[in-house]
Amino acid sequence: IPLLLLYKHEDAKSLLYSSTAFKKLGQHLDPLMYTSETYRQWGWHLEPANVKFRFTNPMGKSGSPEEVLENNKAVYEAELAKEVTEPKDIDLTDLRPPDKKHIDQYVRANATIIALVRNQEMTSIRRTIRRFEKSFNSKYRYPYTFINDEPFTQRFKDKMAQTTEAPLNFVVIPPELWDKPEFIDVTRELEAMNIMANHNIAYAKKASYHNMCRFYLGTFYNVPELKQFKYYWRIEPNVDFFTDVQYDVLKYMEKAKKVYGFTVNLYDIDETVATLWPETLNFLNQGDNYKYVNPNGAHQWLLENKQNPKKNLVAGGYSTCHFWSNFEIGDMDFFRSEAYSEWFKYLDSTGKFYYERWGDAPVHSIGLALFADRRDIHWFRDLGYEHDPYYNCPNNPKTSRCTAGKFSRWKHLDDQNCMANWFQLLMSSKDTSYF
Ligand code: GDP
Ligand code: MN
Repeated sequence: IPLLLLYKHEDAKSLLYSSTAFKKLGQHLDPLMYTSETYRQWGWHLEPANVKFRFTNPMGKSGSPEEVLENNKAVYEAELAKEVTEPKDIDLTDLRPPDKKHIDQYVRANATIIALVRNQEMTSIRRTIRRFEKSFNSKYRYPYTFINDEPFTQRFKDKMAQTTEAPLNFVVIPPELWDKPEFIDVTRELEAMNIMANHNIAYAKKASYHNMCRFYLGTFYNVPELKQFKYYWRIEPNVDFFTDVQYDVLKYMEKAKKVYGFTVNLYDIDETVATLWPETLNFLNQGDNYKYVNPNGAHQWLLENKQNPKKNLVAGGYSTCHFWSNFEIGDMDFFRSEAYSEWFKYLDSTGKFYYERWGDAPVHSIGLALFADRRDIHWFRDLGYEHDPYYNCPNNPKTSRCTAGKFSRWKHLDDQNCMANWFQLLMSSKDTSYF
């Protein structure tokens, strides 16, 4: 049986991923945990005969999905009830807002705010910017880079200039970073779109949405105008920021050497990523690609299968947990790295950004969970944020207009929350950024 084994020597426990071949045997197995004192290095083992393994759950207490959800909700609520102000892992003194008179001399991180947006989204992106400026950027004046697959109109540019005092760049994406690759089989694409549309998957038939995802997950960091920057903070139309921030969030990334920052963590529509994880395993199993895997990655979070086991099953062993990418703060050098770009090249070659609807969020998240140290992925729990229908709403006096601890506008969406899985991971890595 061609099993793939990826193990973590750090705590002498290992995770065994079942391959697609294994699944074809009709088995639905819990990801396996493997214990060994002998293996001290990372590697893939194609023959399990020489290893001993036992079946355990990778994350969380066992129980029915309903029980697990109940428990995870309680964990989330208890965590969000704690009063948190700002990160405590580094000294924030020189990250305080500069005096308005001296804002021009303020030394910023090498960063830009990015917004991929269409001309017709002018009003909704302005709404975002007004809120974002009030919460953060009026205090620091980081430059904005507006990105579009078409030229921005003069009216759009003028309106943006009226909305902020920060420097503005307007960029048209080179077609080779945006357009669907030529090798895509349009018949196959159309069939896939129709099937997904019949299953009520949002944007299934919207070709530009597929381009957008591929752009944000695989090519944006190669836009010529972004090459000069290391960090980006992505914003979107119609999102809200609820916290009066008193430290330079982008400089925090730099000083604390974080690779990625997020606010909301949730499950995905499994069918859109049905073979993303199996294809990723194919990639890792080619040549010596396993060398890219970070021993301190967030692997268990990727494999979780307790709260929404059906999603894990449909997604071939991937929990579908992901950082919600409409808010993201990241180090572009991570996405420019050999590990991430080789993996992207492989994913792209499968054509499944078009034959499925792999989103930018799950791809970023899997990449980060595999190739980055999980301690460099930072939950900005102190930043109140909303992109309909989900929130991150902290309990602190600097946050207003949202209900602390509320996850979604709709109660029935509480089961989409993945945060409890992330907490579990952090507890094991003793994250101390807030306490
Ligand atoms: P959702 O959040 O997944 O529902 O997707 P959105 O419609 O918010 O799209 C995500 C981001 O990509 C937003 O910032 C949009 O403005 C942007 N976007 C989506 N499609 C296009 C497109 O075809 N062209 C441009 N320029 N921006 C797009
Ligand atoms: Mn959106």
